[in-house]
Amino acid sequence: EGVTYDLLPRPCQVLVLLNPQSGTGRALQLFHSHVKPMLTEANIAFTVFVTERPNHAHDFVQNGDLSSWNALVVMAGDGLMFEVVNGLMERQDWESALKKPLCILPGGSGNALAASINHYAGNEPAIKEELLTNCTYILCKGLHTPMDLVSLRTASGKRLFSFLSFGWGFISDVDITSERYRKLGNARFTMGTVQCLAKLEVYKGRLSYLPVGETSASSSPYREQSSSSGQSGHHTCYRNGHPSHILPQTVPGMSHVPEGTWPEDSLLVPFNQPVPKHWTVEPEEEFVSIFAIYQSHLGADYVMAPKAKLHDGSIHLFYLKAGVSRTALLKLFLAIQKGTHMDLNCPQLRYIPVRAFRIEPFVAAGLMTVDGEMLPCEPVQGQVQNQLCRIIGG
Ligand code: ADP
Ligand code: MG
Repeated sequence: EGVTYDLLPRPCQVLVLLNPQSGTGRALQLFHSHVKPMLTEANIAFTVFVTERPNHAHDFVQNGDLSSWNALVVMAGDGLMFEVVNGLMERQDWESALKKPLCILPGGSGNALAASINHYAGNEPAIKEELLTNCTYILCKGLHTPMDLVSLRTASGKRLFSFLSFGWGFISDVDITSERYRKLGNARFTMGTVQCLAKLEVYKGRLSYLPVGETSASSSPYREQSSSSGQSGHHTCYRNGHPSHILPQTVPGMSHVPEGTWPEDSLLVPFNQPVPKHWTVEPEEEFVSIFAIYQSHLGADYVMAPKAKLHDGSIHLFYLKAGVSRTALLKLFLAIQKGTHMDLNCPQLRYIPVRAFRIEPFVAAGLMTVDGEMLPCEPVQGQVQNQLCRIIGG
């Protein structure tokens, strides 16, 4: 399949959404020292929007007039890009708004998308200022291309759009636990891993998925039974009736755009129905971690899905079944830094490219994350939406 690229016009005008708190707190300083000179050289004019609070960028992108910008540049971690993608989706004109190229410049401690773009461009692995310089150079070149998104639905009625990952269990625990070490930059994940290894937990639930290449004539597109199915609340019915925890500072669900105008989730059926017959239901019901990733990198130096591409139509689903030892888990985490974890032939680790998945926790335990942001634990399903937005890369 041919990759099609378009080029930013010159001169052009970009909006830089910058989170001054992300990562080690130096994003603004790094913008002035490393990014500005290169943009000026490349005839790219910019306006900097410095965020003052969580959701500031989301609200601006959702409601603002974006017509003066040729691209939206996020200089932060993956968390701010998540705000921007979902802010765009909540616009009434989301379909045309998503045609505007997005760009990531690594300013955070979680820079998975930036590291992935650096990898797709054929560059050597890089971190910190070197990764920033590479990504700024990619922006200066100005090539943009389609990117897949994943449409996620929760049992309580949230719908979210994700560009990076969805996870439950160990890896999500590390992601969130490590946030308190944000000031360490990339090293936060090493600290988080060591801490989570100490209290290695098992999460019970059912995992179902639609493997890539599994075709079926059947089509039963997602339809909500009724509009009162819980857009607002956290009420979640579990198979065995355990109530869900209400966690602080979790991502909000979307409700601004009428369901009918969004892209259809043609592979999913409502939670009250079993997954379609041609899906696979994993017999194992005890997991250390389930992690669905759609970019190559999980962090600047974690290559989880080396074969992933910007628009491969795939969700790269990894799951780690219960029974894995702490030593084996630590070895896996060290191997992920080189992308060689599958070579270890760990019997509990499975990898399968899928187009859709469903996770149904039996109890609300452990953290769930979407693009590194926290979500309360509840049943979630998602499917790939091919080439839904555009990203600068190449
Ligand atoms: P990091 O990679 O260090 O986590 P992110 O850019 O992902 O950095 O941002 C982390 C969180 O900070 C996101 O949830 C985002 O919504 C929030 N945020 C954005 N702007 C601000 C701000 N000005 N002050 C505090 N938090 C912010
Ligand atoms: Mg983050």
